[in-house]
Amino acid sequence: MTFDPLSIRSSFPILNQMAHGHSLAYLDNAATTQKPLCVLDAIQDYYRNTNANVHRGAHFLSVRATNQFEGARDTIARFINAPTQSHVIWTKGTTEAINMVTYGLEHLLEKNDEILITSLEHHANLVPWQQLASRTGAVLRILPLEANGQWKAECESYFTQKTRIFAATQVSNAIGVSTPLQTMLSLAKEQGAMTLVDGAQVVAHYPVDVETLDCDFYVFSGHKMYGPTGIGVLYGKIPALEALTPYQTGGEMVRKVSYQATEFNDLPYRLEAGTPNIEGAIGLAAACNFLTEQDRPALLAWEQSLATYTYKRLKSEKSIILYSPETNTTLVSLSVSNIHTMDLNAYLDSQGIGVRSGSHCAQPLMTELGIEGTLRASFACYNTIEEANRFCDVLIEAIDILG
Ligand code: PLP
Repeated sequence: MTFDPLSIRSSFPILNQMAHGHSLAYLDNAATTQKPLCVLDAIQDYYRNTNANVHRGAHFLSVRATNQFEGARDTIARFINAPTQSHVIWTKGTTEAINMVTYGLEHLLEKNDEILITSLEHHANLVPWQQLASRTGAVLRILPLEANGQWKAECESYFTQKTRIFAATQVSNAIGVSTPLQTMLSLAKEQGAMTLVDGAQVVAHYPVDVETLDCDFYVFSGHKMYGPTGIGVLYGKIPALEALTPYQTGGEMVRKVSYQATEFNDLPYRLEAGTPNIEGAIGLAAACNFLTEQDRPALLAWEQSLATYTYKRLKSEKSIILYSPETNTTLVSLSVSNIHTMDLNAYLDSQGIGVRSGSHCAQPLMTELGIEGTLRASFACYNTIEEANRFCDVLIEAIDILG
């Protein structure tokens, strides 16, 4: 393996600390990643040297803040290969982006129209659609993918003339599998449905090309790709974004206002009411630059090798049930017969190892798997083979003690 995680670790000083008397091993990257110095510096630099409100001020700092903020939008557009910056709407994160779409499209749905999502969705890509269905009388249907992400023969029949919207995750946060996205998007488009892709678990690991994917909407969160919390992106094709009724109204998103009526602004501003998260946008652009400067195939290969290594070490343990795939994933998701994942989590934490346990905001998937939750170790570019080994050793020790 050519990639050396130690070369990148120095950019993440937070990793260099003790937790409960042990050196910290941070393996909860699917929940949120740590932030490199360049992101921290970009945010601090903004507040030290630039802070002002954007768009409306005609003074030195405001112009500079606007240039940096809109420059950040350009960086995001390039990062996901969007044709122009008008395709990029700032949001708080994936959840807000999906809510913007579900509220924005409400006027297009009628009773008995169908909204189709997959059986591998995070609650963020399920509950807003369920709410939309209950508000409009549309029907929420669940495409029954296999738990390993595989296509079932019956899946094709779920795409019908009634399918108005299809929304799917590209990678499952709970069990790390990739969905058959291109097949699903083609079938949805054949039926004339609008399409949304949840890229929350993708952006830190895989290059994203929205032009090639050719979906109407693509959503993701900054904090899962080395950027700050509280900032995310709704990418949309222009007609799709124009179809959205603004989810929030107020300043910034308007062109002309009288007591009688309001004329909304053009895209992207039309969907961004109020003062935006300026430092978040600048920090997210720094995170994109950080990733772009890396050898991304090497980073991905490294992260996948850690997950595969961990999987291989654990698969011979009789009491461990693995739900994530052996290869082509960056996380390991498992349960242990007769031991609650919370207890394993607490033991790992006591030894300085940060992982996540529970349903991972995917309760229907857990129900389908017949479990309450899993223990998930998720890797990022800065994780080491020593950390993967410590996770395995301490997990096996926990099973011995708690079993
Ligand atoms: N979708 C997926 C696949 C996720 O993994 C997550 C977060 O874990 C979300 C959506 C929600 O992201 P956020 O909480 O940043 O809005």
